[in-house]
Amino acid sequence: MWRFDLSRRVAVVTGGNGGIGLAMAEGLADQGCVVSIWGRNAEKNAAAVARIQSRGGSAKAFRCDVSDRQQTERATRDTLDAFGRIDGCFANAGIGGSGRTAFVERTDEDWRQMFSVNLDGVFHALQPIVKHMIERAAGGDRFGRLVTTSSMAALFGTARNEHYAASKAALNSLTKSLAVEHARFGITANAVLPGWIDTDMSEELQANDKFMANAVPRIPVRRLGKPEDFAGIAIYLMSEASSYHTADCIVIDGGYSAF
Ligand code: NDP
Repeated sequence: MWRFDLSRRVAVVTGGNGGIGLAMAEGLADQGCVVSIWGRNAEKNAAAVARIQSRGGSAKAFRCDVSDRQQTERATRDTLDAFGRIDGCFANAGIGGSGRTAFVERTDEDWRQMFSVNLDGVFHALQPIVKHMIERAAGGDRFGRLVTTSSMAALFGTARNEHYAASKAALNSLTKSLAVEHARFGITANAVLPGWIDTDMSEELQANDKFMANAVPRIPVRRLGKPEDFAGIAIYLMSEASSYHTADCIVIDGGYSAF
């Protein structure tokens, strides 16, 4: 069991103030990991820290819009000032796109906004942290964990939300590339691909009775996923136990993509 002890570790979780990111942060903190939450909304950030602390965990939050490089560089410095090191980054922040729009009506602004958060945001968050991990590796501390939150949509594509699916497919490729490039520093990189999960992001879909009537019976587990379903994978990927597991796209969808 010592392999799941995260008590010497520090992890950043972007978008860690709600939904899947908060469940990952809570799971990590429960195993003793110190968590640095990066989110835009100060109130949600404070509530997330309070929630983790109420379970006996250690966390701090930093306001950060990942689409802005200066903000991720500042949040990296602030995290290092607060905790001295960063062992892992869960690049989880993402947007789903508002409404469903035909491709021929997609605006440039919509397209760019999607990529600015879901892809540029991951680039901005990971780059300064990977630099820090490489520097540490040069000093003999060869350990780093990069985890991106992608989507099952990257595998299938999604009608009327093609920019979302494309941003996540690019993220899978980015993650694998980072794994290959940085393995020699003891850094692993994996993407987690959620299916339909009950969070704020899927509220609109959940309110659509026709969608729910069609989708849920197609999920072998017969329910939407819950944020807590992602705590275990976060703990495993942050731990020593996953040292040989890299460049993977791990689907967590209740079996939906088996068909
Ligand atoms: P939520 O809407 O509950 O959470 C999204 C999180 O991302 C929030 O904490 C939000 O924080 C943060 N965020 C959004 N934009 C930015 C930004 N520019 N900078 C910093 N933080 C930002 O959704 P989920 O928990 O469902 O989503 C988490 C990840 O899971 C996303 O990448 C999403 O694409 C992916 N996913 C979700 C699925 C689902 O069905 N729910 C399915 C497949 C993938 P704040 O409010 O402070 O901005």
